[in-house]
Amino acid sequence: MADRFFPNLMPSFVREDIQEEDKVTDEDSLMKLLSTPYTSLSKQFHRSGLDLKEKIVMETWGLSGQAMHDFTLYSGNLGTALLLYKSYQVTSNESDLFLCLEIVKACDSASLASRDVTFICGRAGVCALGAVAAKHANDEALQSYYLSQLQGIKLSRNHPDELLYGRSGFLWACLFLNKHMGQGTVPNTTIRAVVNEIIKNGRALAKKGGSPLMYEWYGERYWGAAHGLAGIMHVLLDVELKPDELEDIKGTLKYMINNCFPSGNYPISEEDRKRDVLVHWCHGAPGIALTLVKAAKVFGDKEFLDAAINAAEVVWNSGLLKRVGICHGISGNAYVFISLYQLTGNIEFLYKAKAFTCFLLDRAQKLTSAGEMHGGDSPYSMFEGMGGMAYLFLDMIDPSKARFPAYEL
Ligand SMILES: [Zn+2]
Repeated sequence: MADRFFPNLMPSFVREDIQEEDKVTDEDSLMKLLSTPYTSLSKQFHRSGLDLKEKIVMETWGLSGQAMHDFTLYSGNLGTALLLYKSYQVTSNESDLFLCLEIVKACDSASLASRDVTFICGRAGVCALGAVAAKHANDEALQSYYLSQLQGIKLSRNHPDELLYGRSGFLWACLFLNKHMGQGTVPNTTIRAVVNEIIKNGRALAKKGGSPLMYEWYGERYWGAAHGLAGIMHVLLDVELKPDELEDIKGTLKYMINNCFPSGNYPISEEDRKRDVLVHWCHGAPGIALTLVKAAKVFGDKEFLDAAINAAEVVWNSGLLKRVGICHGISGNAYVFISLYQLTGNIEFLYKAKAFTCFLLDRAQKLTSAGEMHGGDSPYSMFEGMGGMAYLFLDMIDPSKARFPAYEL
């Protein structure tokens, strides 16, 4: 397990208000960043986020002759479009918005024949981001076009329920539209039909004495955010649910908490209950922690908050991964601390989010060039590469408003 992450040697808390004369003078550049007042640090996140965004746009769009091999938000061009949309939200620079729309348009053409239906890996992401960006550009015709394209997406019996390729990933796109374009943009009847199906499938696979809801993806009953229980529960908790549905979600999360590893980390799946190895958003404590924070918010139940804090401790100790991205990298893991900070207001969580972000700011480039950190299979992408890191930098300008991209509404 140790070779997957760097030992976390950063102090568990550093005050920002240390007087100049009390500072240790030979401290290294990372320690300097950790004691920098947030207002100055925030400017560095801003600058580095925008610089990185420029580089990513150049690498994934400018230099490619705009030929598209992968349209998805996960590892392809829609991720660059989402980063541009984020940058537009930060700077109000309309050229970012228009470039975002241009890329979404190309993603639209490239995905017309795709059967993938989700926000992160499918066509719903293209339609939903397209509609929201078109709204900001005051282009009503384009907005209607993307909304009608979303309505044309058909879920089949064969689709799974998980987040990256299944129903909950389609559902998230509907919720994103309703949040950014007004409730009812996607009618409640559409949302309800998808929720009913997800709940029905979960109950059908549940076993007596086990979790009240269970799902399968390619024959494996996953627990994590990308393909399993944590991701599905996370999306469901953003929907208006019936009391019995809420009870089943509560029971599912308690089942997971009661069966976590002694380390506090979580198994990958029902089938893989012994290997305590992955501390990723996709598999393991980080993705599950985000769902537990959401559950603590929805149910007001201290057990969920305590479990989220325990999972965050695992992320602090074993989550300084040798990758930069959102899915299985340091950037995604930083969002665990951000969400706990937002829920509790405790600045120790803000510090930890800042520490992971500063580690990236200070070292990611050097460690990647030295071959000590993996650049990612798609090095500029949102979920596997630098796109996610740039998004995190831009989010950390104002951490009270940060949201895990394409996952936290
Ligand atoms: Zn992953």
